Amino acid sequence: MQMEKEMYDVTIIGGGPIGLFAAFYGGMRQLKVKVIESLPQLGGQLSALYPEKNIYDVAGYPKVKAQDLVDQLVLQAKQFKPTIVINQTVENVVKMENQHFQLSTDKETHYTKTVLITAGVGAFSPRKLNVENVEQYEDKNLHYFVSDLNSFSDKKVCVLGGGDSAVDWALMMEPIANKVSIVHRRERFRAHEASVEQLKKSKVEVLTSCEVVDIKGDQNKIHTVTIKDKDDKEVHVNVDELVTNYGFVSSLGPIKEWGLEFYKNSIIVNSRMRTNIEGIYSAGDIVTFDGKVKLIATGFSDAATAISSIKTYIDPTSRQQPQHSTTLFEKIKV
Ligand code: FAD
Repeated sequence: MQMEKEMYDVTIIGGGPIGLFAAFYGGMRQLKVKVIESLPQLGGQLSALYPEKNIYDVAGYPKVKAQDLVDQLVLQAKQFKPTIVINQTVENVVKMENQHFQLSTDKETHYTKTVLITAGVGAFSPRKLNVENVEQYEDKNLHYFVSDLNSFSDKKVCVLGGGDSAVDWALMMEPIANKVSIVHRRERFRAHEASVEQLKKSKVEVLTSCEVVDIKGDQNKIHTVTIKDKDDKEVHVNVDELVTNYGFVSSLGPIKEWGLEFYKNSIIVNSRMRTNIEGIYSAGDIVTFDGKVKLIATGFSDAATAISSIKTYIDPTSRQQPQHSTTLFEKIKV
């Protein structure tokens, strides 16, 4: 027998900064909130593309590291205990007869009274290692994310990539792993200078100007990574675990098929952040309207407007203009 699915007031598609702030705002306006994010991590562009960079134009912060801002947004959102679903990409949105929505992801179905799309530049996914037979190892010893550092204890680990994440993972694994190698196709790393200095002083085997050309293994595991250096000389690296950190690609993908009105790659909304489909709202980098500016600061404003519009849509007796946060917090007593 199929279990009855829980109904949410609003389901937010995209756990970037704007989706996270919308989750907080939804909680503050006493809506039942769910957030669905395609990556196994929250934070959108900030965590995926520039976690170590400073941001200088968020109100109240003269300077804030992107990942620190995300951490604060997650803390702020979690005060109202929204349901957060990671690692699922919303593929389809269907309006049902009762005017509620059914959202299908690559893994399950979700039900909601309204939808708030904060999908930014589209769903992120890791840029894959481009060699033959690579897919068969994705749930085995090929990793695009590292969630449990301890699982690399005493292992021979090969890390691919030259950015901050690759170098950071190599450095974090070095003290616990049996051996760590890092392979980068260029001569110089893109990572933070201080991390590269630390890498040079560490026991990590550094293989630069090298590209992966082949992997060999059995049904369950990759055993050897073959790399070619700039003189076309092949080197074989024995591995227990292979960590690939080639950054991310984003794609709007199925969102364009949901019947929404687009201008170029942006969803058209009105001043209440309403799309052309009743019950679907949108905010942040993915929207356009006359005068839209695509920044974190303005996205936060879109999110507060969208949630207030959703509140009045669900409960027409409520007001678009919320009470002050001090009053709302005291009422809810978090
Ligand atoms: P995003 O951050 O793009 O997040 C959207 C999230 O939605 C992603 O995590 C994505 O995986 C998820 N998603 C998309 N589709 C789906 C789906 N179908 N199912 C599930 N999940 C989905 N802005 C500033 O204001 N100041 C700055 O200094 C600044 N510096 C920047 C520097 C760089 C290098 C870059 C790239 C951007 C910078 N920006 C800056 C822009 C800023 O990052 C964006 O304005 C901001 O990230 C927009 O947030 P968002 O939540 O709308 O979208």
